[in-house]
Amino acid sequence: MILPTEVWVMGHRWEIIKVEQDWFDDTDAYGNCCSVKRKIQIFTGGGGSITRDTLLHEILHACWTMLAFNEKEEEERVVNSLSSILIGIMDDPRNINVVRFIAGK
Ligand SMILES: [Zn+2]
Repeated sequence: MILPTEVWVMGHRWEIIKVEQDWFDDTDAYGNCCSVKRKIQIFTGGGGSITRDTLLHEILHACWTMLAFNEKEEEERVVNSLSSILIGIMDDPRNINVVRFIAGK
């Protein structure tokens, strides 16, 4: 699975960058979303489903920024819950029609 290089959120481009093991070791995080630079960093060493969850998680942070929400503590809790539940929905083979429909595929 190849990590995408960009995501468009409400018409704005966010760059997606793959980070290396040393970044993961330093930050102890699988991903980061920089709202100032509109840059999402992703560590892919955790495997497919963790990487997908992380990418969705960071995209939700980008959505949060674009919607001009704030208050960091609440943001982390909401984004974390939403990314995990959405990945669960997308991974359930019984939802294939819903996922394809939402993706426009
Ligand atoms: Zn987060």
